[in-house]
Amino acid sequence: MTSRTGPVVIVGAGQAAAALARSLREMGFAGPITMLGEEPRPPYERPPLSKQVLLEGHVPEALWLMGEDIQRTQVVALSTSARVVRIERAVRRVVTDAGQSHPYETLVLATGGLARALPNLPVDGRYVFALRTLEDSLALHARLADARRVLVIGGGWLGLEVAATVRQRGCEVTVVEAASRLCARSVPPEVSAYLLQLHRAQGVDVRLGECATPTLTPDHVRLGPDAYDLAVVAIGLAARDELAATAGLATADGVLTDCSGATEDPSIFAIGDVARFCSSPGEPGVRLESWRHAETQARLAAAAIVGRPLGYDEPAWFWSDQFGRLIQIAGLPRPDLDLIEEAPGEKPLWRYGRDGTVEAVIGVDRARDVRMAHRDLPALACSIGGPRG
Ligand SMILES: Cc1cc2nc3c(=O)[nH]c(=O)nc-3n(C[C@H](O)[C@H](O)[C@H](O)COP(=O)(O)OP(=O)(O)OC[C@H]3O[C@@H](n4cnc5c(N)ncnc54)[C@H](O)[C@@H]3O)c2cc1C
Repeated sequence: MTSRTGPVVIVGAGQAAAALARSLREMGFAGPITMLGEEPRPPYERPPLSKQVLLEGHVPEALWLMGEDIQRTQVVALSTSARVVRIERAVRRVVTDAGQSHPYETLVLATGGLARALPNLPVDGRYVFALRTLEDSLALHARLADARRVLVIGGGWLGLEVAATVRQRGCEVTVVEAASRLCARSVPPEVSAYLLQLHRAQGVDVRLGECATPTLTPDHVRLGPDAYDLAVVAIGLAARDELAATAGLATADGVLTDCSGATEDPSIFAIGDVARFCSSPGEPGVRLESWRHAETQARLAAAAIVGRPLGYDEPAWFWSDQFGRLIQIAGLPRPDLDLIEEAPGEKPLWRYGRDGTVEAVIGVDRARDVRMAHRDLPALACSIGGPRG
């Protein structure tokens, strides 16, 4: 495999984009790097948006991933407020909404996702909120100052983090979740039960199995007989794969890639939240929405671009912070795994696996144990093939 030296154009200026630019330079890539992001700001970390930023309403210095000094030392040409509207694969260039063309030898799509909306409850920034950007977080923080009752729609990670933070700000919080348990797509039932008990103990009204159909009145959001000052819609993310789809690349709620982000077009990669990747052709693939995955896939894409490709050499990793509890997940706790060990109590730990081999570990305030276990788990490439016989 040969090293590429021509222009790399990165669409999106978020976590994966910043990690890619950094990795390319660390791996010795000397060609031009252009980063085009539609947000008005340089790349920043999103995890604090539902935690510290939402709680305190100020932007910590550590949020910024690529200030002007880093842009200068890494020699990255960053354009903010620049939305890419078209990929012209035949001539290898992208075009922005301002009509500017950027030729590429390698194109990397790092476009993340859009918060899914409820058709009958559009986000209006007054009564209905979503949480994806720094602006979303600051706007919600400001609005919470005169809110007493808050409805959170969706009992996944984002909904639960928002519920915890809003509760810590002193509001009454109701979480409605359509499934019969919390975070049902990503953790086994005993962990969902832990999360339920954690939130209820803190006074959050969690309603499961309830398909919320709230309505907007002139000054409230209503759900059944209850009125709320505002609602936060946290019902998942839709991959922003529309550019790729329009350009004829294969998509399925995500751009289809291999583990390193390579698409079917050798000059185009997709990484981070927008990539649906698999370790061998024909698998359904997985799309991971996690900080660590965005960093890892950026590193793997950079390695492939400089001609030194790597496999997905580490297990998945995710964390969440709720009510001061650090919940960490190492590996993929797929539904076909068995619960091998459960250590209950204030700081629970669960181990999952098959045939005596541990494949995933979940811990609460057990950072050391989860980190140690992480070292021995199978690399992600071996875990994503789905249930095995
Ligand atoms: C509130 C919140 C809390 C989170 N907390 C955690 C956590 O605790 N732990 C964890 O592991 N993960 C967490 N995550 C997930 C993690 O932040 C994401 O997985 C990570 O940001 C993905 O990086 P990305 O670069 O793929 O996408 P993003 O960071 O979303 O960046 C994509 C960028 O591309 C831009 N873009 C899209 N289309 C275009 C276009 N056509 N032209 C130009 N620009 C475009 C978007 O505007 C965006 O700025 C959280 C996410 C959020 C939103």
